[in-house]
Amino acid sequence: MEKSHWAYKYAEQIIKAKEKDTYIVESGITPSGVIHAGNFREVLTQDFVYRALLDIGVNAVYQYVWDDYDRFRKVPKGVPKEWEEYIGLPVTKTPDPWGCHDSYASHFKDAFMKEAEQCGVEAKYISMREEYEKGVFSDEIKKALENRDFIKSVLDKYRKEPLPDDWMPARVYCEKCGKDTTRFEWLGDYKIKYVCDCGNEGEFDFRRKGIIKLPWRVDWPMRLAYYDVDFESSGKEHQAAGGSMTTTIPIYKKVFGGRGFIGPMYEFVYFKGQKEKMSSSAGNVVTVSQLLEVYEAEVIRYMYNTRINRSFEISFDMDLLNTYNYFDKAERMYYGKEKEIDENEVDRYRLSVIEKRDEMPEQPPFSSCVNAIQIALGDIEKAIEVLRKLYPEIEGKGRTRRRLALAWNWVKKYAPEQVKFTVKESLPELEIDDKTKQSLKKIAEKVKEGIDGESLQAVIYEEGKKTDVKQLFSTIYLLFIGKSRGPRLGPFLASMDRDFVVNRLLLKG
Ligand SMILES: [Zn+2]
Ligand SMILES: [Zn+2]
Repeated sequence: MEKSHWAYKYAEQIIKAKEKDTYIVESGITPSGVIHAGNFREVLTQDFVYRALLDIGVNAVYQYVWDDYDRFRKVPKGVPKEWEEYIGLPVTKTPDPWGCHDSYASHFKDAFMKEAEQCGVEAKYISMREEYEKGVFSDEIKKALENRDFIKSVLDKYRKEPLPDDWMPARVYCEKCGKDTTRFEWLGDYKIKYVCDCGNEGEFDFRRKGIIKLPWRVDWPMRLAYYDVDFESSGKEHQAAGGSMTTTIPIYKKVFGGRGFIGPMYEFVYFKGQKEKMSSSAGNVVTVSQLLEVYEAEVIRYMYNTRINRSFEISFDMDLLNTYNYFDKAERMYYGKEKEIDENEVDRYRLSVIEKRDEMPEQPPFSSCVNAIQIALGDIEKAIEVLRKLYPEIEGKGRTRRRLALAWNWVKKYAPEQVKFTVKESLPELEIDDKTKQSLKKIAEKVKEGIDGESLQAVIYEEGKKTDVKQLFSTIYLLFIGKSRGPRLGPFLASMDRDFVVNRLLLKG
């Protein structure tokens, strides 16, 4: 059947474009800073296409390339000023300012790989430093040197100032000081002669010594061709006129003989309430670990799996509840438990799944988890009991426990005041007129009978009509949580201990 989901469409195009044993989906980044929730769009976009390929039944690899032979370019905010002395070294030879990893690059790589794994990304990681040092790209480097004039002309087309006349499409790391503060001469074949600002000089064959690398604008097309990549999407900024994509294509084809790949643009990720896209330089980044504190990993995948050409907002406010609700609905569609089935949502859900399972997991609504965990003061076992009063079918399995823990994090860190509450342990002092007392008594009787939350909601409403609906509701909220508003009242009362609720309504304690 023809799929409408974008990831499956790309997968079909990929298969049509080349006949291969194994298709390559690629992504990559320089590990020179926190890889944030904005960067994660590319990571997951590629992963969805990779998963769609596997789902169709072909072999595929998701290779994640670390540009970790790139130089340490500047000292970012939050890193001690003394790190200036490392500028020019590869990021993998720059020390970790926080002292917890073997290098500056490892610090960011490590955090990312943990987050990616938690989000169900199974990538094959490739270190460019290792590849270059092994001399894997010797022939490609030679091609770049041979085509130096052509490469320069392509790059110059989009530059205000042309590259200097002595520009070379490669950089050499000095064997003495380790930095790329060098100038070199290509002696033909694989031979290079260089001098460094530190005073060192040397001559080497780059098949034996991997101390030369291509600059990023040449490295990317080289790598796309070398690995015969089939799919690599990139951000909007790369696809603008003069962006790396425009210069990549001619170099990829003419210099490295690339066979073609599919490289669409994906839109930006915003943090709600901010006009600028998420970026380290704008200083408005959210990390994936922060998302994982309140979003289930599969819900994160679902959220990122919007149409590739559409931007989306990450939010920690009430929108979070909607995201969970949409995810739950897609899950019900997938398991055929909704009347109307949207196939696109079914595909979107399938690509979000991390844990394979035979039957639909239990689905306590996130908003109910938020109330339950507050009633239970953060105690997950008690919160499961609370949830069961509303949803007797809930067994308190993994999904439910996880959601309750995430809901508690959300309450503590991000939830707006309107959804936060603490149940009062003792009866608050409150002036209540006789008519209202009568209503409370009637409601207490219904609670004693054990009616369900929605019916109780209707009872309270009917009682309220005798005097003042709004006032009755706020009186009850004040009695229980000391605020005049709160969660939907009927289900809220129905989810607490029955004797406690009855006593409180009878103003007995
Ligand atoms: Zn570290
Ligand atoms: Zn040197």
